[in-house]
Amino acid sequence: MNEIYLDYNASAPCDPRVADAVAKAMTDGLGNASSAHRFGRRQAAAVSEAREHVARLVGGPPSGVVFTAGATEANNLALSGFATPSPTPQRDAAPTLVVSAVEHASVSRTAEALADTGRCNSRTAPVTLGGFVDVDALAGLLEATGHHVLVSIMAANSETGVLNPVEEIAQIVHRAGGMFHCDATQMVGRRPFDMAALGCDLVSLSGHKICGPTGVGALVGTREALAALRPTLWGGGHERGLRSGSLNVAGIVGLGVAAEIATLEQSREAERVGALRDQFVRALIDDLPAVDQNGDTERRLPNTANLRFVGTDADAVLVNMDPVAASAGSACSTGAIEPSPVLTAMGLSREAAFESVRFSLGRFTTAGEIADAVRTVVTAVRYVRLMTTEAA
Ligand code: PMP
Repeated sequence: MNEIYLDYNASAPCDPRVADAVAKAMTDGLGNASSAHRFGRRQAAAVSEAREHVARLVGGPPSGVVFTAGATEANNLALSGFATPSPTPQRDAAPTLVVSAVEHASVSRTAEALADTGRCNSRTAPVTLGGFVDVDALAGLLEATGHHVLVSIMAANSETGVLNPVEEIAQIVHRAGGMFHCDATQMVGRRPFDMAALGCDLVSLSGHKICGPTGVGALVGTREALAALRPTLWGGGHERGLRSGSLNVAGIVGLGVAAEIATLEQSREAERVGALRDQFVRALIDDLPAVDQNGDTERRLPNTANLRFVGTDADAVLVNMDPVAASAGSACSTGAIEPSPVLTAMGLSREAAFESVRFSLGRFTTAGEIADAVRTVVTAVRYVRLMTTEAA
């Protein structure tokens, strides 16, 4: 059987159109984008074009695009940049970072690490059983913080695909006098997203989640929001002084082409992929007893399904369904396997979390692959259930 890749949320395959553009930028592009000579100017023009495409994808200003090495760095820049004190302190109180309980580690761990240094306070906004932020609890939390607050809440969750009420969150944050950073890494290219219309001040995205290159991404911000950040890297002052370092022109060109394709093809792709995902889930539920869906199925990405095969260890299922690739949210933490913090924050038991598998589809997933994957997953779950019963 052929390999079947259902792990797009971890990293999507690079679109051949993007790969061609990257290869061309690497072979034809010469010079540093900061150089004043014609070679440098050509590189800078290629970067400018990419800036336009990335800005269009998220509904932000091209001048507000800060290229980074991915969403991890973009998230770190947003949080650390906000919490780093300016050399001319005018603040009366330490800043506060508010993050949701289901953020990616590049947000949650950054907030923890910054709070550990004593530079800022960190608070966590809870989520509902459906997996989205509890907006009343968030509003209550913000009443208790000062105005000097950055709220960082993702648009769509990587493990469950559940969507947050981004516009409502932005309004609550602004009413409290705070700034709103939205990690839209899993959202952009999959659902419409317009940071200006939604009221986001800062937005993170990543190339390899939109069929672009890995290791390149961006933080996009309004002029005011970017002005409120302090750099976390110092050097030549590239990217508005916020991200020094010679620009990765080929990677940036690839991100630009990936963003352009995502903007043009998002709605058609969402429809096609959503139909395949629904077909996949329906078939598994029809063929297997005791399959639960985690997260609110009425508000989630079209490509993602997080399924609990009750009584079945997710890692055992993953091993037995090879060469179909998906993932479990469990992770090794200080030597012990821990259940997905996203699922447990939603109120699932440790046991339920250990039994949950994330399937994520995308641009190159075919109906034939879905039919084959259903058969393989059904066989794997039946086998693991049988082994579990015999061992008991
Ligand atoms: N945020 C979210 C929601 C993600 O899913 C990921 C990647 N898993 C990241 C941030 C980090 O992105 P990158 O791999 O580009 O650092």
